[in-house]
Amino acid sequence: MENILKTLSSLKEKGLYRGEFKYLSSEQAPRVDIEGKEIILLGSNNYLGLCNDNRLKEAAIDAVNKYGLGSGGSRLTTGSYDLHKKLENKIAEFKGTEASLIFNTGYMANIGIISSLCNRKWVIFSDKNNHASIIDGCLLSGAKFVRYKHCDMDDLERKIQLYKGEDNLIVTDGVFSMDGDVAPLPDIVKLAKKYGMITMVDDAHGVGILGENGSGTASYFKVNDEIDIQMGTLSKAIGSVGGYVAGKQYFIDYFRNFARSFIFSTALPPSNIAASLKAIEIIEKDEITRTQLLELAEWFKKKLSESGFCVTNTKTPIIPVIVGDAKNAVKLSGSLLEEGIYVPAIRPPTVQKGTSRLRISLMATHTQEDLENVLNIMKFHGKRLGIIEG
Ligand SMILES: *Cc1c(COP(=O)(O)O)cnc(C)c1O
Repeated sequence: MENILKTLSSLKEKGLYRGEFKYLSSEQAPRVDIEGKEIILLGSNNYLGLCNDNRLKEAAIDAVNKYGLGSGGSRLTTGSYDLHKKLENKIAEFKGTEASLIFNTGYMANIGIISSLCNRKWVIFSDKNNHASIIDGCLLSGAKFVRYKHCDMDDLERKIQLYKGEDNLIVTDGVFSMDGDVAPLPDIVKLAKKYGMITMVDDAHGVGILGENGSGTASYFKVNDEIDIQMGTLSKAIGSVGGYVAGKQYFIDYFRNFARSFIFSTALPPSNIAASLKAIEIIEKDEITRTQLLELAEWFKKKLSESGFCVTNTKTPIIPVIVGDAKNAVKLSGSLLEEGIYVPAIRPPTVQKGTSRLRISLMATHTQEDLENVLNIMKFHGKRLGIIEG
């Protein structure tokens, strides 16, 4: 008990305490209602505006009317609906793979996939900036866990030569969630071939954004056939909730039999499945929204950078504004919120120490006018807090 209180107060001292939630009373949109105040939302993963798209809402409502709410069972018992099958076929077609399997969240997909595939005899090579759910999957598997420097292929090869075992997996985010940069998949594939290893990509932030028809990072690099396991989430650009794995039929058969986070959890309700299905149909056809979003992001990054902010140049709508110190990041985020702009500060352990940041992510539905305003207010507080010069 005393230890728990001590740990909490030490978190507070370091600016790492995760305190009050911000409660939204409206849709996930460029402007939201937080405690009766209109706020510009800048950290959402609702990249394409599908979370509050009328076509998805209608699909979900129709499904509620036909199927009701809860799914009533796990997928292997009474919880599989014809919509699950439709969505799994659609995901496989979209990703250009033989088959796919839906999990309840991306987190559950990662821990289920990795912990069922790998065991103590395996060696897993994982990018240092990979998402926490990948790390948890690796730890759960009991495999030897080797982390290589972020996107550093020389470091990866050196570590492969040092630690390679009989069975090996290389796993990476396709688009890194907190950095917005893209993994060098062609090089990773080359190394995997050279050393006979299995490859897995977590495309939570690539799908809907990159590649042909928005089908993701593997498609963007034209290495679809070389990535063995493509994992993703239905909760970001796709605007609903859920995770999936896509790949060869035998992988899918294997996960259906062994991934415990798939087996021992109640299936997603039909309404969410219907929304995801509609979203993928929209994404496949809608090149315009995707292009608009990327152009808007390009423009905003340039503006931020010209204003003196430390911004990584990414090909995605994720724009990390690096502040460094955790407390300063929290201060900037707090000042912006007082001005009606919500950009969450991201701190360790989510990102490496000394790289605390505001993680801006844009929605296709943001207006340039709102972003101009944001920029001016950010400049003012950035200067005031000594984050930028001026
Ligand atoms: C968000 C995220 C996940 C988890 O997906 P959820 O559906 O939110 O559980 C996994 N990997 C990455 C890279 C993510 O950004």
